[in-house]
Amino acid sequence: MLNMMIGFFKDYFKYKESAKKQQRWMEKYCEQNNYAINPSWMMATNLKSNLCEMEETFGKRYCPCFEPSGEKELDKKMMCPCEFVEDEIKEYGTCHCALFGPADLSKEEWKASSQRLMDEYQVPKNLKDGVLDTRGMPLDPRRGMMIPDMMHQVKSTLNGYKGKALKVIVESEQEVKNLESIAKYRGYGISSEKVESHFEVALSL
Ligand code: SF4
Repeated sequence: MLNMMIGFFKDYFKYKESAKKQQRWMEKYCEQNNYAINPSWMMATNLKSNLCEMEETFGKRYCPCFEPSGEKELDKKMMCPCEFVEDEIKEYGTCHCALFGPADLSKEEWKASSQRLMDEYQVPKNLKDGVLDTRGMPLDPRRGMMIPDMMHQVKSTLNGYKGKALKVIVESEQEVKNLESIAKYRGYGISSEKVESHFEVALSL
């Protein structure tokens, strides 16, 4: 929890200025669709920081909850605000990331959807002796992508991680590419190799 809070405030100060740009389009989008932004300052701030980080890491405003899939059509659909908002509002009360919801959503409904999201991302990670195996997480039914995806598993592992190296096992070549973008943005060393049906990626922190 402490590491999560440290990470939150680090990102808050890092993206404080660029988050204002996110806030502007989000307000306009909500006004046009009769939606609202999550009323929790922490949730909304965290998601805005994540949007800024996605833009800076991958060059596009991808959903803060899913790394790029490498499939052109799906990635287009996953740009925020994504194509799944309406459908997910019907299911969860808000979009998947609990950033947008109907303007008249009650405080309790916002809280419930935010809790659903946090529960999805606080699953135990498969981390042992400096090796993080990111495979095998449940799939989101709309996007066909893991929850939490490789990127979120790595990011939360690195929050407060004391080691100088982390080996990450991933399923696909696209995940290797995403890790390369993350490493470049964060200034980590990286090397990778294909081993049987998966990839092993070594990060020097
Ligand atoms: S789920 Fe919400 S935050 Fe994620 S891309 Fe869709 S609209 Fe944006």
